[in-house]
Amino acid sequence: MHTRDLSTHDVYEAGRGIEEVARELGREPDEFVKLASNENPHGPSPNAVEALRATADEVNSYPKAVHADLTDALAERWGVDAAQIWLSAGGDGAIDYLSRATLEPGDSVLVPEPGFAYYGMSARYHHGTVETYELSKASDFEQNAETVLSAYDGQRVVYLTSPHNPAGSTASLADIERIAAETHDRTLVVVDEAYGEYADANSAVALLDGRDGFDARDDVAVVRTFSKAYGLAGLRLGYAIVPADWADAYARVNTPFAVSVPACRAGLAALSDDEHVERSVETARWAREYLADEVDAPVRTGEGNFVLVDVGDAGVVASRLRERGIIVRDCTSFGLPSCIRVTCGTEAETKRAAATLNEVLASVDAERDGRPEVSDA
Ligand SMILES: *Cc1c(COP(=O)(O)O)cnc(C)c1O
Repeated sequence: MHTRDLSTHDVYEAGRGIEEVARELGREPDEFVKLASNENPHGPSPNAVEALRATADEVNSYPKAVHADLTDALAERWGVDAAQIWLSAGGDGAIDYLSRATLEPGDSVLVPEPGFAYYGMSARYHHGTVETYELSKASDFEQNAETVLSAYDGQRVVYLTSPHNPAGSTASLADIERIAAETHDRTLVVVDEAYGEYADANSAVALLDGRDGFDARDDVAVVRTFSKAYGLAGLRLGYAIVPADWADAYARVNTPFAVSVPACRAGLAALSDDEHVERSVETARWAREYLADEVDAPVRTGEGNFVLVDVGDAGVVASRLRERGIIVRDCTSFGLPSCIRVTCGTEAETKRAAATLNEVLASVDAERDGRPEVSDA
C-alpha cells in the first residue's frame, strides 16, 4: 500500500522558528529575534486574547452561530453578501477552497515566479498543473498586465499577489482588471492580499463589486488573512471573497467546520480593534523606511511588512545573522539566492536587525577583500 505519486509535489519551507534555531545552536530562545515569517511583532490584538480566554469552555460545541457571525461581520466590512465570504483555515485554506471549486484534473494554474509556493502546491493536490510568469529582479519585480498576459495560455486560474511576497510590489486595479478582461471567461483571477492592510493600494474587492468606477466582474476572487496585520497566524484564520454567483459553491467544497470556535471569536474581536491594526501598519511602514535608510545594501521596501535585501550570498548572510541572534528568510528557495527577506519588527528589533546586518555585511566584505575579519565581539 502506498500513496499516490507525490514526487512532483513540493514541500512548503516555512521560516525557521526560534526554538528550532536555538536548539540547533545550543543557545537560549530569548537570545533570538525572529524576522523570518512576516508575523506581527506586536502580537495579537488584546481583544482577541481576551476572546480566546473566554472561549475556552465553549469548545465542546461545533462552530455554527459564531461562524455565521464572523462571516456577517466580514461581509459588512467589505460590502458584499455573506455567501461571498468563504472562511478558511488561513489564507492557505482559502486557496485550497478556490482550487476545489475550479480545478478539473489536468487544469493548469498560472503563478508568479518568484512567488508564494502554496499556489502551486494546492493546484497539484487538486490534480492540476502549474505554469509560471516571471517577475524579474532586473525590472524591480514590477507587476503589470503585459507580464501576466504574455505568459497566459488559457490557464483555469491566474494568481496575483499584491503586495507580492517576497518582493513587496503591487498590481494596480487597472492592470488586474485588464488581466481579468483579456483572459478567457473561464479563467479566475485570484488576487492574494495577505498583506493588503500594509499597502496604500485599494483592494481588488472593488472589481468584484463594481465599485470605484469599475464594472462588476464575476471572474475575480480575493484572498485575505488574519495571519499578518491581525497577528493571528497561530490560529489559522483567513477567507476568500468570491464572485456573487458562486453563492452555493462554498457548502460543496468546504471542510465541515473548517474554522474553530476560538478562531471565529478571536477574529471577530480582532476585526473590531482598528487601533491594533493601525499600530501594526504604522510600525511596518516605519521599519521599511528605517531599513532602507540604514542597511548598507540595496533594500527593496515594497508595501508589505517586510523588505527584500540584496546581500550577495543569502545563505552565508542568513547563517551569520542567525549566529548573532537574528533569524531572517533566506530567499534561495524563492529562486533569489542573493536576497534575504527581513520582516518588520518592533522598533527595537528592527534597529538591532539593521545594526547586526551591517556588521555581517562588513565581515563578509572584509573577508572577500582578504582583510582579517573585524572583531565585533
Ligand atoms: C502569509 C501568506 C498567506 C497566507 O498565510 P496564512 O497564514 O495561511 O493565512 C498567503 N499568501 C501569501 C503571499 C502570504 O505571504
